Amino acid sequence: MDNVTEKLFQWFGHRKFKSELQERATRAIARGVHDVYVSMPTGSGKSLCFQLPAILQDNKVAIVFSPLLALIKDQIDHLTKLKIPAESINSKMSSKDRERVLNDLRSMKPDTRFLYVTPEQAATGTFKSLMEHLVKYKKVSYVVVDEAHCVSEWGHDFRPDYLKLGNLRETYKSVPWVALTATASAEVAKDILTNLKLLLPVAQYKTPSFRRNLFYDVIYQNCIDDEVGHLLEFLKKSLAEDENIKPKDKNAAIVYCRTREATENLANMLTKRGLMALAYHGGLKSAERISVQDKWSGGECPCVCATVSFGMGVDKASVRAVAHWGIAQNVAAYYQESGRAGRDGKPAFCRIYYCCSERNAVDFILKKEIAVAKTPEQKNRNKVAYKSFSIMVRYCEEVKCRHKTFAEYFGEETPRCIDRCDVCADERNVRRALDQHQRRASS
Ligand code: ADP
Ligand code: MG
Ligand code: ZN
Repeated sequence: MDNVTEKLFQWFGHRKFKSELQERATRAIARGVHDVYVSMPTGSGKSLCFQLPAILQDNKVAIVFSPLLALIKDQIDHLTKLKIPAESINSKMSSKDRERVLNDLRSMKPDTRFLYVTPEQAATGTFKSLMEHLVKYKKVSYVVVDEAHCVSEWGHDFRPDYLKLGNLRETYKSVPWVALTATASAEVAKDILTNLKLLLPVAQYKTPSFRRNLFYDVIYQNCIDDEVGHLLEFLKKSLAEDENIKPKDKNAAIVYCRTREATENLANMLTKRGLMALAYHGGLKSAERISVQDKWSGGECPCVCATVSFGMGVDKASVRAVAHWGIAQNVAAYYQESGRAGRDGKPAFCRIYYCCSERNAVDFILKKEIAVAKTPEQKNRNKVAYKSFSIMVRYCEEVKCRHKTFAEYFGEETPRCIDRCDVCADERNVRRALDQHQRRASS
């Protein structure tokens, strides 16, 4: 057992790494030669990738930037439980607490191993002089930027203060930096590297987007006579299983709809035609939402017709089908929503029931948002949102491997799909359907 594996157990209580990628990223960060960029899904254990290497360096502190005090508190609580000294300096703490933290950090041998701060804090005089002091005495192990997508306008929660961190990278070149995120398109990844001014070459560790157990296809609603019947067959086929399964492991499905009304209508129609389905949307009382979610998770109700508010914190492994009724907002959202299928690694099906009126509705809303934007920044962001939507439209209106679109979006090499999407499985058939769709749409 080497030092890294030993400390993994000693400090964090884990016998092994969660994944090969987690191990490789952790070891690269521990070497400390290059700046490191890590992109792995939520829950895959990104924190450990920098926390373990930081522990290996005695009497040094890692500065961790995190966007929210709530996130900072979670991380500090977690480390404190593990008996690892972690602190924060922020506007909410008492001056006495702040002095205690600062005194420790200015001492010859600080106890603090992690200092969590928001990017806003980085702009204060207190922080600047502290940083100066720590670097001068070689007390900084790493500078870490968590939720690094906040530095990009292409990301979903852009924070202008993250941009200033780039100056810090330029000022202190001797300390290695680590940037981590769960959500990064190629655009966002590029922004992270350039806006944070990470030193090249940056070592990159990314979970590939391709998931072989997910089959993707697109069905054009104007090419079928009975849309709901078609959906029903799709769901029934995907959900089929042997009878003796435990309720909580039962197969389940999600149908995403754009509007509350659509979730209700579709759930009613599916139920009437023999597949029990419940509607889920933001208009329901919170007790109702919880009840729907419980019935679905517990295997009582196999199908939920939901707006995109359904899914946060849903971790059912046996989702066999995710259908989108109309279109998704953008590729990132679609990848995430459809990706709730097949978490158990078994085959699952992701389908869009494409329809022009839905596409036009979203198109209209997004264009309007650009028109009514109050600030140039807002306008810019709304334009970005419109562009992302256009890629989603192309996904539906192009005869191209569906997994390839994802890979391009995330800046990866084309995966060997072979037969994991409708296009690769039967390209001529998809072309025929698309032609028919376009003919009918224009007539
Ligand atoms: P992320 O930041 O990628 O969303 P976290 O760092 O919050 O993920 O970790 C998610 C969970 O995984 C935590 O509960 C953490 O303790 C756990 N975890 C991390 N590494 C390991 C490991 N090697 N073995 C088991 N559990 C792990
Ligand atoms: Mg995290
Ligand atoms: Zn394909």
